[in-house]
Amino acid sequence: MASVDSEEGKSQTESDEMQKHVDKTELVSENGKNLKWLLCPHCDSKVLQPNKGEYLEKEYVLPFTSAKHGEPKESERETLSQFWLVIDMYTFENVGFSKTVNTTKYLICADCEIGPIGFVNLEDKTKHYIALSRVKHQ
Ligand SMILES: [Zn+2]
Repeated sequence: MASVDSEEGKSQTESDEMQKHVDKTELVSENGKNLKWLLCPHCDSKVLQPNKGEYLEKEYVLPFTSAKHGEPKESERETLSQFWLVIDMYTFENVGFSKTVNTTKYLICADCEIGPIGFVNLEDKTKHYIALSRVKHQ
């Protein structure tokens, strides 16, 4: 039986445990677009069609996924570094907005209102960022 556990040149960084790193090999196309549908991880509602988002690495702190419109607590945050950049909210199949905190508006599932699955910076409202680890790829 072939082993797929090859560990070559494993480079660890100190902050690894703080971040959820998503294996993007089967998610990102050659031109950096999403190969799969993006779905809500809770209710499978369709968020984004394949090929509509662009893979982007960027560090951003998002509150943990929490129910409904709960106020994100300062302690309940995680640093995320992998996003789908989506230009224009009409590109989405389905997305909702939750509260605005400073210049950030959080994106939630339009059906079950679970989130945030991403965010928009109100200083550049055309750019929507969806966290890879907060959605389901199918
Ligand atoms: Zn949902």
